[in-house]
Formats: sequence, structure tokens, C-alpha cells
Amino acid sequence: TKDTAPVVVIGTGLAGYNLVKELRKLAPEQPILMITADDGRNYSKPMLSTGFGKNKSADELAMASAADMAEQLNIVIRTNTRVTHIDPAAHRIFIGEEPVEYSKLVLAWGAEAIRSRVEGDAEELIYSINDLQDYAAFRQAADGKKKVLIMGAGLIGAEYANDMAAGGFDIDVVAPCEHLLPSLLPAAAADAVQAGLEGLGVRFHLGPLVNRIVREGEGVRATLTNGETIAADVVVSAIGLRPRLDLAVKAGLQVNQGILVNRRLETSEADIYALGDCAEIEGRVLLYVLPLMASARALAKTLAGEATDTSFGVMPVTVKTPVVPVVVSPPAAGSSGNWSIDGEGADIQAEFRGESGELLGYALTGARVMNKVALNKELPAIMP
Ligand code: FAD
Repeated sequence: TKDTAPVVVIGTGLAGYNLVKELRKLAPEQPILMITADDGRNYSKPMLSTGFGKNKSADELAMASAADMAEQLNIVIRTNTRVTHIDPAAHRIFIGEEPVEYSKLVLAWGAEAIRSRVEGDAEELIYSINDLQDYAAFRQAADGKKKVLIMGAGLIGAEYANDMAAGGFDIDVVAPCEHLLPSLLPAAAADAVQAGLEGLGVRFHLGPLVNRIVREGEGVRATLTNGETIAADVVVSAIGLRPRLDLAVKAGLQVNQGILVNRRLETSEADIYALGDCAEIEGRVLLYVLPLMASARALAKTLAGEATDTSFGVMPVTVKTPVVPVVVSPPAAGSSGNWSIDGEGADIQAEFRGESGELLGYALTGARVMNKVALNKELPAIMP
């Protein structure tokens, strides 16, 4: 029967490796096959946006090779191998023409960087940095260079702005929003972070989009929709991530923003599960480490035979802008209530409270981040 086939996990990011570590503890004999499109090195993705300040190469950020992981976890890992098709009815996946059987299949294939549609002839000088290999390529491109243009002022754009400024680069940030971190912070808190980054020399161009990027000398010149132009040596595109959905859609799995799963991390097809950046759990797409760790623990139990629901407690997000530290727990989408703002300068405390005064979210910057402990106790769990 199919039960003799291995548990197959697609993806060796934090979701895949954490799941397999947990599963191995509970099921020492279970055959497990991991498949990854990249080189399978184990690394902590959040470290990618602190690597310039700390001057860490991609090799220094890698904690273990795929071969080491395979030995440690007593599993088989196929690296540089892309899954191209899933056949849920036959309990098979395909790597090109090659079929591979599974007893249970776990999709941990993450999210992809959204590519910006800019005109011009400089596509190869526009980098998105979403895994260790991207990071290695970008470090090589930035070596000996000075001016970096960052497109996007969300979590990743803001973190790279701080990190690369700390690493000695001259930074311009362009984003079509009124203030940075628009989906995480109210304006007053965002302004505090912006002022801190400007203190490091970062220039913000908020409102316009980058329209066109053309080669100029060794570097590029970008033209914004407001007519302004910016010269740079290299460009980082950090305009957003979206869960990878293609293969899931073709296999007939239900998807929305992410691959739809219930609290047991079951997709709409039997014996196929999803977790991490590719999954949407009861309406939530949470592109963070803490939710995938909680999911990995629950799913490992389920795969080991003890059906277990995932729950998420309070999970504030730390934005790694050390010049002005930020901790934020955004209110759930669609919450009704109001922000109230306290503090001044770099030290802002913003609280989002509902009709009857209950705390539903917060954003803290600067010295106020220390108040997170008290506020966390008041917050409702994200998914109790
Ligand atoms: P990924 O790490 O993207 O792994 C996906 C895996 O699937 C890879 O191995 C890939 O090769 C493989 N794959 C994809 N398609 C296929 C295919 N067809 N066949 C085979 N293999 C395939 N979160 C926080 O909580 N705190 C932070 O401070 C933080 N900082 C971040 C900073 C940056 C710069 C970035 C980019 C993200 C940050 N995040 C942070 C988010 C966090 O890193 C992610 O939520 C997490 O790493 C996602 O892990 P994952 O395993 O789901 O996906």
C-alpha cells in the first residue's frame, strides 16, 4: 500500500526543517524524503536582513549543509530538485517525468518575491533577496559598490535599508505609500522609524513608484512616476512576497491568498498538508517564523498518529531596524477600533483598542518596546 511510501516534504526552509526535526523526535523509524529546489542548506532566513551590518557572507549564515542535515535527521534530501506536478489521487508527485510516491505529502514551499514591472534594460541589476542563494548573489553584486536603490518600504525594505546603511551603503528607498511599514504601523510610529533611518543617511521617496530603470555606466538610473530620477549601482526589489500557489492550483487544491488549510494543516486533498509561508490557516497568511514553529509542532504530532490542532498565541513581530527598534502586534484584519498615540521622538506607543476599550493591537518604537511584555498579557491570542 501507499503507507510504505515515505512522508514527503517539499521545501527545506524553516517550515520544512522544523517539521522534520519535530517529526523525527516522535517517529524515529518513519521514512522521510525532503525535496528542495535550492541547495538545502539550513539557515535562518531572518538573518538575511541583518547580514550587511554584521558583515556575514552567505556561507557564514549557513548553519549546516543538506548532507549534514540528512545525516543528523536520518532522512533523504534531494537538493536542486524542483517538484513539477502533484497527483493527489495517485499519491504521487513528479520531478519532471520521474514519479515519486508519498504516504503523506507536506507542502512547505514558501512564498516567492513579487517581481516589479518596471520598464528599461536593467532587469539583471534588480535583485530580490528571498533565500540564501539570492543573498549570495546580491552580496557579490554589491561588493565594492556604494549606492543602493531599494524598492519597497515594508518589513523587508525597511530592514534592508537599516542593514545596508549600517554596512556603509548609501540608500534611497522608493515606495508608493504614505509612510513606511504601511501594513504594520500607524503613521506616528512609522514616522519615528523613518526619522531614525534618515539619521543614518537613508533618503525616502514615498508616494511615487519606480517607472523605469535603465543602465547608466556600470550602474543604473531609475525614473519615478513623479519625474524624479535616482542613480544607483544596484537595485533591491522588496515590494512583497506571495505564497507559491501554481502547483497547488494545478493539482486542484483549494487556494485563496495561500493554500487553504484547517487547524490540522490539512489541505482540501486527503493526505496533503501545508505549513509556513505557503499556507493560509483559517484566513490567515502569516509570513513569520513563530507561526510556522507552532504549526510544525502540531503537524509533527498529527503525522506521528496523534491528530493535533494548531493554535497561535500572541505573536508580536520585531522589525529589525536597530536604529529605532520596533515591536508590533497588528490588529486582526477587519477589527473595529481606534489607534491612540502616546510618546514623542523615537519613542512611540500606539495602542489599538476596540469599542469597549479592549486592546486589539499595538505598535511600539524606541524605548517604548520594553512595554511589550505588559501589553502582550492584555492581547487576545491570534488563533486560540
Ligand atoms: P522558505 O524558507 O521560502 O522555503 C521554501 C522552500 O521550498 C525552499 O527550500 C525552496 O527551495 C523550496 N521550494 C519552492 N518551490 C519548490 C518546488 N517546486 N520544488 C521543490 N522545492 C521547492 N520572520 C520573522 O518571524 N522574523 C523576522 O525577523 C523575519 N525576517 C525576515 C527577513 C527577510 C529578509 C525575509 C525574506 C523574511 C523574514 N521573515 C521573518 C519571514 C520568515 O523568514 C519566513 O516566514 C520563513 O523563513 C518562511 O519559511 P518557509 O519554510 O515557509 O519558506
